[in-house]
Amino acid sequence: MVAVRFAPSPTGRLHVGNARIALVNWLFARKNGGSFLFRLDDTDTERSTEEFARAIEDDLRWLGLYWDAFARESDRYARYDEAIAQLKAAGRLYPAWETAEELELRRKLQIARHRPPVYDRAACELTEADKARLTAERGAPHWRFRLDGRRVAWTDLVKGETAVDTASLSDPVLIRADGRPLYTLTSVVDDIDFAISHVIRGEDHVTNTGVQIELFEALGGTVPGFGHLSLLVDAAGAGLSKRLGALSLRSLREEEGVEAMAVNALLARLGTADPVEPAADLASLVAGFDLGRFGRAPARFDPAELQALSARVLQLMPFETVRGRLPPGADDRFWLAVRGNLARLDEAAAWWDVVAGKIDPVAVEDGAGVLAAAAGLLPAGPLTGDSWGAWTKAIGAATGARGKALFLPLRLALTGRGHGPEMKELLPLIGRDKVLHRLQCQGGQPAD
Ligand code: GLU
Repeated sequence: MVAVRFAPSPTGRLHVGNARIALVNWLFARKNGGSFLFRLDDTDTERSTEEFARAIEDDLRWLGLYWDAFARESDRYARYDEAIAQLKAAGRLYPAWETAEELELRRKLQIARHRPPVYDRAACELTEADKARLTAERGAPHWRFRLDGRRVAWTDLVKGETAVDTASLSDPVLIRADGRPLYTLTSVVDDIDFAISHVIRGEDHVTNTGVQIELFEALGGTVPGFGHLSLLVDAAGAGLSKRLGALSLRSLREEEGVEAMAVNALLARLGTADPVEPAADLASLVAGFDLGRFGRAPARFDPAELQALSARVLQLMPFETVRGRLPPGADDRFWLAVRGNLARLDEAAAWWDVVAGKIDPVAVEDGAGVLAAAAGLLPAGPLTGDSWGAWTKAIGAATGARGKALFLPLRLALTGRGHGPEMKELLPLIGRDKVLHRLQCQGGQPAD
């Protein structure tokens, strides 16, 4: 049974890099008939906030990545205590009292002596008397996990054969001096308890995976499969870390007006050799999803590509999908007329004003003849999709105007803009009364 999880720490907002991990896990679950757990890694109580936790939930909902189960680590301290007791009983945890400054000094000395800056396990040499003295002098210790120091290898779902030599790593601190368990441990306990079958995360976790596989084994858990996605980089190949604020989902949504399906469609393909295409819904992304398509090379993220894709997503979007986000009264005829001209959905409101409300009249400099002839030649009866063609033909015949000289004055007078959706579609939506009124305004009548 496939079970995956997305496990953000609520210490900030989700950005495109996190969203990619969430999406790939979600698609993997759906593709394999498995489950998707949303887990908040919130044991870092100094940096985690409820506000970020809620914002992350909102972002996942916005993307449409609904979860089958939810967990938060701060609910599970009792369970972590059990795991800690188990590791202590197995002799895999040892207490240490070094301060950050002492460790830093030792690290510098090691580097100066061209030795790897790995924790030297000085704490393992402490006698019971030393420990009693240190406890009296410094209080409670932190606890380190004694690594086996071996080649931990796995067949990565993205990277293929991968190995970490845990002899080259410092024994990780799993419990802080204040008793709080750290992510390296809590994540493994959760992955065991929630029967996570595949851990799919960013390449920045490869080293953790070496350590955590040792922990899965020490705790007697089943080691899941691992897949490490390459990181996102910008056009110059640099990491996105400095720009992550601007690339938060909230800012993409609220500032840039990007569509959720554009984010999904792009992130489902970045880092694969498959073309990026607008997708109508998540189901179509599930159909085309294969984790094996993701390559090892860093994936280039270009905000301009996202914007362009977002416009294409809008242009294909059916009315039913957007109706709740359009101005009241906007119907599908309106939507089909304007969607091809939108870079972002909120621009639809201005077009709704053009067809159903008021425009800011613009002074049409050339074309007085066209406009003077237009009102009298407007076809009788209700305006339809054919009216524009018949009308402009008649105006052309009467005035001799052609091409831009014929169409632009009419467009400017009727919409207040030089560009936009097909006039053929807009004309019936604007309607006879407004058309006549706007033509009159051009004749020096009061503006509407
Ligand atoms: N909370 C961790 C992070 O956000 C989770 C990593 C993992 O997927 O194990 O980096």
